[in-house]
Amino acid sequence: MRIDVLGVGFDNLTMEEAVERGMELLHSQGTHYVVTPNPEIVEVCREDPAAAAAVNGADLVLPDGIGVVKGAAMLGTPLKEKTPGIEFADRLMGKMAQGGQSLYLLGAKPGVAEAAAEKLIAQHPGLRIAGTHNGYFKDDAAVARDVARSQADAVFVCLGAPKQELWMAKYGADTGAHLLCGLGGSLDVFAGTVERAPEFWSRHGLEWFYRLCREPSRLGRMMKLPLFLIHVRQEKGKRG
Ligand code: UDP
Repeated sequence: MRIDVLGVGFDNLTMEEAVERGMELLHSQGTHYVVTPNPEIVEVCREDPAAAAAVNGADLVLPDGIGVVKGAAMLGTPLKEKTPGIEFADRLMGKMAQGGQSLYLLGAKPGVAEAAAEKLIAQHPGLRIAGTHNGYFKDDAAVARDVARSQADAVFVCLGAPKQELWMAKYGADTGAHLLCGLGGSLDVFAGTVERAPEFWSRHGLEWFYRLCREPSRLGRMMKLPLFLIHVRQEKGKRG
């Protein structure tokens, strides 16, 4: 049973359980996809039914940050812990490296996925990178075919939300991969073009503030966070 936070159902798992589930999906027949919504994406889903369907249609829905975990607790239905997409991805790659499985990196500006690939191979010896493609393309079907040709076991789809969720829902099966993960700006972090917040900030639930200071242009998007909290309060009132 998923835990509902303003219309998005989250899987209630620890990070370890989430990675285990991810590996099960990777080893099972068919195509599966993982999403990691934050409050901003929950707000997008409230306004966009197609985005909501793509997010809720995922095989694994993980709370990316502290905002969703706080929201769930305020609603009286706590989630075990936050399971940030980037950490989930890192652990998944560790396991994939042990099994010699292959990964396709899709998204970000030209050159970023290739730079990320180099770093990831160094960090996870044994991991195979089946292919890369930047995230600024017009022909979706051609990109899905390229992934299929690469015979990748998994794909990191990093096109920003809700573009990546919609892409995975529509084209995921055409890639032939067993697992696709929507991971926002993670390739930029893996490539080293954008830094992740130091541990101090994330430990105190302030990763969002660190990112805002580094990239002030995010302010408009981040205004969705107070809106999220207002909506959680309203929902709490309704539930009584
Ligand atoms: N991006 C992309 N194609 C697009 C739009 C965005 O590949 O059409 C990439 C962008 O270059 C960045 C990522 O998607 O690497 C989105 O990062 P953002 O920080 O906005 O995502 P978040 O992690 O906040 O979801």
